[in-house]
Amino acid sequence: MKDGLGRNINYLRISVTDRCNLRCRYCMPEEGIVKRAHSNILTLEEIFEVVNVCAGLGTDKIRITGGEPLVRKGLASLIERIATLKGIKDLAITTNGSLLKGYARELKEAGLYRINISLDTMNEKKYEYVTRGGRLKDVLEGIHEALKVGLVPIKINTVLAKDFNEDEIGSFIRLTESLGIDVRFIELMPIGHASGFASEHYLPNSAVLERFKELEPMETADKSSPAMYYKLPGAKGRVGLINPISRNFCSSCNRLRLTADGKLKPCLHSDLEIDVKGILRGLKAGDKQMALEKAVAEAIQAKPEHHTLNDLYNKPIERDMYTIGG
Ligand code: SAM
Ligand code: SF4
Repeated sequence: MKDGLGRNINYLRISVTDRCNLRCRYCMPEEGIVKRAHSNILTLEEIFEVVNVCAGLGTDKIRITGGEPLVRKGLASLIERIATLKGIKDLAITTNGSLLKGYARELKEAGLYRINISLDTMNEKKYEYVTRGGRLKDVLEGIHEALKVGLVPIKINTVLAKDFNEDEIGSFIRLTESLGIDVRFIELMPIGHASGFASEHYLPNSAVLERFKELEPMETADKSSPAMYYKLPGAKGRVGLINPISRNFCSSCNRLRLTADGKLKPCLHSDLEIDVKGILRGLKAGDKQMALEKAVAEAIQAKPEHHTLNDLYNKPIERDMYTIGG
């Protein structure tokens, strides 16, 4: 379905839980994390109903995210159902990778197409620091297991942070030389109550190109991809730059987001939300279908032309990133 600006909105990102086994400093505030009651979180059946409606309106690309999606019980069964929906061309997951070793095979067998793993440092101590307690070893084992069961292609998402991991840019880039994986650097965004980390550590992705002049730009087949891709000569994988701040990609935005508590978000950086939980729980089958279609259409038409992160007096959104999913 097209929005008022002619953008084709064919991509739904679903946060299946707002719970996470890590506490990344740029994503979760240190204090004040309110655990939503299970009754306030959409059931897997309810999530599927929304996906089904979106698929009927032209969504062909789905990403499962969190919180940490792998802590959601029954996730593989949801993936299995979505994978068999008519018209779905891409079904991926974004995970912190720490539980992946135990789930990679199940996800592959359920029909998951591919996986993005978030990893900001390859130093054990720094990993423990930025995730407030995570173990690097778990993620590395998860990556190996994903490769082993053929859950490929793998993309590694690395949030670039000044005075934290800028000294590791080279190590991440070199991963693409021998392993057939893409490494994508993401600019830190000020979001929710953890926005202070982004204000303090923001580093534009241009730093990657300034420091690694041997990276060669590549043509990207997918014009709606937020990443601009580069390659080291002879490397197996690519290096991607996702620059929401320094070079926003709003004009080609094709996304809608569904939060675990049942809100459609037309834009990551806006507080505007459209409720679907009330529709899912308050209406009978026939009326529900129509009301859901109306809500999805309304969310698509409500997409702003662009975000306002670079405006001088911009205030970060209220909702924290771990309850949206990226
Ligand atoms: N827990 C999963 C994970 O970490 O991959 C999925 C949810 S997490 C919110 C999704 C992505 O958002 C991760 O790659 C994470 O690094 C990124 N992210 C979180 N907060 C961010 C921020 N303030 N700026 C940029 N990216 C952020
Ligand atoms: Fe959890 Fe992912 Fe947020 Fe880290 S980035 S706290 S792993 S949701």
